[in-house]
Amino acid sequence: MPALLDAQALHDQLALHGLIIPSGLPGAYGRGAAFEHVIERFDALVMRSDEGKRAQRMTFPPIVAREMASAAAAGQRWEHGLDITDGMLVPAACYPVYPTFSGLLPQGGRTVTVLGWCYRHEPSIEPTRLQSFRMREFIRVGAPSLVEAWRDAWLDRGIVLLESLGLDARSDTANDPFFGRSGRMLAQSQKEQRLKFEIMVPVMRDRAPTALCSFNWHQQHFTGKFGVVNHDGEPAHTACLGFGLERMAIALFATHGFRLRDWPASVRALLEIDAAIDDPAGAVVKQA
Ligand code: AMP
Ligand code: ZN
Repeated sequence: MPALLDAQALHDQLALHGLIIPSGLPGAYGRGAAFEHVIERFDALVMRSDEGKRAQRMTFPPIVAREMASAAAAGQRWEHGLDITDGMLVPAACYPVYPTFSGLLPQGGRTVTVLGWCYRHEPSIEPTRLQSFRMREFIRVGAPSLVEAWRDAWLDRGIVLLESLGLDARSDTANDPFFGRSGRMLAQSQKEQRLKFEIMVPVMRDRAPTALCSFNWHQQHFTGKFGVVNHDGEPAHTACLGFGLERMAIALFATHGFRLRDWPASVRALLEIDAAIDDPAGAVVKQA
């Protein structure tokens, strides 16, 4: 297994092997064939699971009504850096889903899955910190106990899944990057209430482990706003779980090497990787 590189060297190696294609704008790379193949195969692996087969699939464009975005973020973090129009780019793939839950839920609630592009104004040299990236998300709505149990089951499942791909996965409670004094209080209470968990994997030698998967338990935040009621009339809760697909691919390349044919056979088999895709003639490009 190759040793981890620092952020700059990881960026350069990904580019050298044609996995990411620098565009001049930090965090806005093109994706090469092998990189995209890994994303597709990881997503297919998740969607082959029982949960993937069971969840209702939805697809949305990467924009939501501006009121929806501000309602979702509670005015905290994403508005800056975006032009003022009726629509707003989504910072998370799940945003468009919550309004569709409005009304009375069936017994047992609902589970939806989406794959979508997200936008965040986070320019960085770290190849894992993109301005636009994709998330595979699962969204659960229902009675609080059901939603909490679902979250706990996924936490175990998520770690097992990443470990099965040879990644050194750990979970921890986390908080979103809220700003200011009241922001610090929000972050603190998010941690205390264990509302956010992340599964992290070491990806860069000079950085803390990178979050590949995040769980957010919103309790009544969205169901209150969009009038979502349980079948028994009790208040419903929501939670979501998102895999950052580009981060997942980068973690796999950083851990197993930049050429698919060098990856452990077990990982390639599990993902059903076609190593012929990293044809060196097509993959290795000159650096700009
Ligand atoms: P969050 O909503 O911040 O918890 O993000 C959900 C998931 O999206 C994270 O676990 C990451 O895998 C991924 N993610 C978040 N921010 C970025 C980013 N700037 N670039 C790439 N992936 C990201
Ligand atoms: Zn989400």
